[in-house]
Amino acid sequence: MNRRQWLQGAAAVTALAAAPGAAAASDAPRRRVVVLGAGLAGLAAAWELHQAGHDVTVLEARTRPGGRVRTLRGGFATGLSAEAGAMFFTPSARHVTGYADAFGLAYESLFAPALPYARGDALYHLQGRRLRAGPGAQPDWPYALTDEEQALGPFGLLQTYLLPVLEDVDASTPMSVLAERTLAYDDLTLLELAASRGASPGALELIRNGFWFDARSEHASAASSLATDVAAFAGGQPPLAFTGGTDVLARAFSDRLGARIRYGAPVVRIAQYEGGVTVTLNTGDGQDHVSADHAVCTLPFSVLRDTEIDPALSPAKQAVVSGLEYMSVTRVFLQMRERFWEAEGLSGSASTDRAVGEVQHHPILQMETTGARGILEAHVRWTGEPPPLEAMSEAERIDHMLDEMEAVHPGARAHFETGRSKSWQDDPFSRGAFSNYRPGEVTRWLPEAARAEGRIHFAGEHTSVLNTTMEGALESGVRAAREIDAAP
Ligand SMILES: Cc1cc2nc3c(=O)[nH]c(=O)nc-3n(C[C@H](O)[C@H](O)[C@H](O)COP(=O)(O)OP(=O)(O)OC[C@H]3O[C@@H](n4cnc5c(N)ncnc54)[C@H](O)[C@@H]3O)c2cc1C
Repeated sequence: MNRRQWLQGAAAVTALAAAPGAAAASDAPRRRVVVLGAGLAGLAAAWELHQAGHDVTVLEARTRPGGRVRTLRGGFATGLSAEAGAMFFTPSARHVTGYADAFGLAYESLFAPALPYARGDALYHLQGRRLRAGPGAQPDWPYALTDEEQALGPFGLLQTYLLPVLEDVDASTPMSVLAERTLAYDDLTLLELAASRGASPGALELIRNGFWFDARSEHASAASSLATDVAAFAGGQPPLAFTGGTDVLARAFSDRLGARIRYGAPVVRIAQYEGGVTVTLNTGDGQDHVSADHAVCTLPFSVLRDTEIDPALSPAKQAVVSGLEYMSVTRVFLQMRERFWEAEGLSGSASTDRAVGEVQHHPILQMETTGARGILEAHVRWTGEPPPLEAMSEAERIDHMLDEMEAVHPGARAHFETGRSKSWQDDPFSRGAFSNYRPGEVTRWLPEAARAEGRIHFAGEHTSVLNTTMEGALESGVRAAREIDAAP
């Protein structure tokens, strides 16, 4: 499959997302399909195949659906929750909104007037200085910027140097169309692209530290980060989140798939032969085998690279499975007895160049259910050498981040009640937060990552140009379901 055919496939999938379950019209022969993983990719693949009349079994290592969609509800005061994984999406995420609408799930704009984002000023902690920006109040940005860049601030820099490459994008432009436009920039990182369009070194630092895509802007292919991170700012799209937590989406699929999902079923071996596939899983007191006509493998490549596959994958596929980089994310959640930052006119979120990373408040919606309390999160993201945080115990992480949070939100320690953390790279069923295609790799590796090998079909965020997103995961699951439905 060449790049053009692959992209046409990706764009075509969007039609199905507008009406999830559209595969039900299929008159393909009924097939037995085993789906590895009940994250969004596996759930979407299983749901579409089930709707089309195929016989589906999903094997999930964890005891819950959703994978990297995980709403933490325990360990905090009643009514409080926090997102350990995915939180936001945009109206252009057609598979997310399509399934949400089909399943009757509510989602809201974060900019709704009653919500913290709309109420508070933006906060930054850069170069040792605490800075706030609100309507008509730009701070003195602590970088060597031109006069024009100084006046633009982070969002203006994005609008000037990066958004124009996406061309007339608005909220009605599907993400898959955006992805097609961004492929031309695959050889550059986002910062290299901004530099090539005239951004000064100081402006690059402000872009690097002023947004949540921090580490991605200097490590990931611009083809990927433009289509996902930067496109979120295109066309005045409001960021959206699920009412009740992101896991409502995973649960909507799993409730409908019912006993077709087998939990606590870690797959250890995938074998294929001329007539089908056999998957081996650990049961706790032994092993079990599931045979099927086809498999959809959604395991992150960071996990798949240590899973036995017989016969071995082709050398080209193997190179991508073993070589694909994963970005690391650790999130530390600090429960505060009072949302004291609101008294200062702040939303709670902040962009920083400190060890605290990106600061976020939780829950992002539904503040009325939480009383006075709130959660401040330290969101730390990196590739390569881990920060000191990674070697710490949970208690040490919390203490360390309280010190850090105190600099961003003075009063954090005095208001602190309890905390917890989540390291995605320590998680044996993720081994990383999300795939990170480096410059050149979207073109060179992504088609290979998505390509089926015999009866094994591949899905997951890492097989989509919209990698790092829920949209990419869902879209890839639908694509794999179509491959099987259309297989001879
Ligand atoms: C910290 C963080 C923040 C994020 N923020 C956002 C955001 O705001 N917006 C957004 O759109 N996206 C966000 N994402 C990305 C989004 O969560 C993912 O792209 C998406 O959920 C991935 O879905 P998936 O099905 O590809 O993979 P997964 O969700 O990882 O699903 C794979 C499944 O396979 C299972 N599995 C693994 N090994 C085995 C095995 N051996 N046997 C059986 N099962 C196995 C796993 O348990 C998992 O359930 C974020 C992710 C993280 C980690």
